[in-house]
Amino acid sequence: MDHFNYRQGELFAEDVALSCIARQVGSPVYIYSAATLRRHFGLFRQALDWTDHLVCFAVKSNSNLAVLKLMGDMGAGMDVVSGGEYARARAAGVPGDRIVFSGVGKTLAEMRMAIEGGIRQFNIESEPEMQALSALAASMGATVPVAIRVNPDVDAKTHEKIATGKSENKFGIPISRAREVYAEAAALPGLRVVGVDVHIGSQLTDLAPFRAAYAKVAELTQALRAEGHDITRLDLGGGLGIPYRRDNNAPPLPIEYGAVIRETVGHLGCEIEIEPGRNIVGNAGVLLSQVIYVKRGEDRDFLIVDAAMNDLLRPAMYGAHHDIVPVVEAAPGAPVQPYDVVGPVCESGDTFQKGAELPAMAAGDLIAFRSAGAYGAVMASEYNSRPLVPEVLVEGDHFAVIRARPTYEEMLSRDSIPAWL
Ligand SMILES: *Cc1c(COP(=O)(O)O)cnc(C)c1O
Repeated sequence: MDHFNYRQGELFAEDVALSCIARQVGSPVYIYSAATLRRHFGLFRQALDWTDHLVCFAVKSNSNLAVLKLMGDMGAGMDVVSGGEYARARAAGVPGDRIVFSGVGKTLAEMRMAIEGGIRQFNIESEPEMQALSALAASMGATVPVAIRVNPDVDAKTHEKIATGKSENKFGIPISRAREVYAEAAALPGLRVVGVDVHIGSQLTDLAPFRAAYAKVAELTQALRAEGHDITRLDLGGGLGIPYRRDNNAPPLPIEYGAVIRETVGHLGCEIEIEPGRNIVGNAGVLLSQVIYVKRGEDRDFLIVDAAMNDLLRPAMYGAHHDIVPVVEAAPGAPVQPYDVVGPVCESGDTFQKGAELPAMAAGDLIAFRSAGAYGAVMASEYNSRPLVPEVLVEGDHFAVIRARPTYEEMLSRDSIPAWL
């Protein structure tokens, strides 16, 4: 459930008409609903209320400082994958001891930054990384909590670009070698082994892969404990999917996901960490866009809109689907017709949807791409020198611009021409 609904024939975010935001901020623009964010975060907390836990928001899904502040104020932890995300989490007021650092390629500078600023745990993804972190921490006179990310070789049955738990993926340490690596970790200075970490992929729409992976983690935890490791935390990653099509079977709910966690690892008495991103913010955001032209092709009509692949990359990158809806609701029974909805970027890949069924559209009409809150704004670029897409946060009957649209001068000012040219 989200808070984007039609009222008197117009699409609203909570109590604000999207057309009102378009008038004041222009388009394209991402619009998030605070109530939806809060609701989704609350569902995960509720799903784990049977145990000690920390819901760590996956910052890479949406890293706007206002979104992070809202989550952090509700008590969320943060899962970060870069120094930049660590800096954002801290700038949003999240204390270091609620930040988990994941990612396969943490640099020494990034690890130093997190040790100095405070960190809940590093999720180690390889032996070379473990040795580098050990040496760094020891040289700083620090002892850092670590979990080792294991790769359970489970097929997440999701898009190949966002599956991370098969042995062919670059993530984690093969679970078959985990005991060896934990023994090495325990012997290294500067590290304190606290847990096991796993994350098998994103946009999972079935609980079976989670169940399989978590069962393997439970078995490993018992083996590690038998070997003397004090495993007190399990980080079970993110990945629970969302409905991208309104007419489709909905993926499992957080409460059902929580029940799988309880079933598979509940008996171990560990503190549970999870790292949802998409499920919290995906359906809490839309990308608002305006029709520039309706172009009649030979065998189809094109809706050329002012958003493009640089603003919302998922369709071009993953062939992803986003429901496209008119901001002015179609009259009941009004005829619909197919449009190929495309952006202005000079690539044929800049196609959001072929044959989208919409009521008759005209230049100037507004549309919204639904389910755009996660992996939307964060993947935006300035390709074709289109200024970075702005973001707005709605709360009740008011809204704020939480990232302004850069002017052309601002965009250009980041380049410099050498004196010798
Ligand atoms: C991407 C990622 C997540 C979040 O995944 P969602 O599908 O957005 O929930 C969590 N943990 C790690 C390590 C990730 O890489």
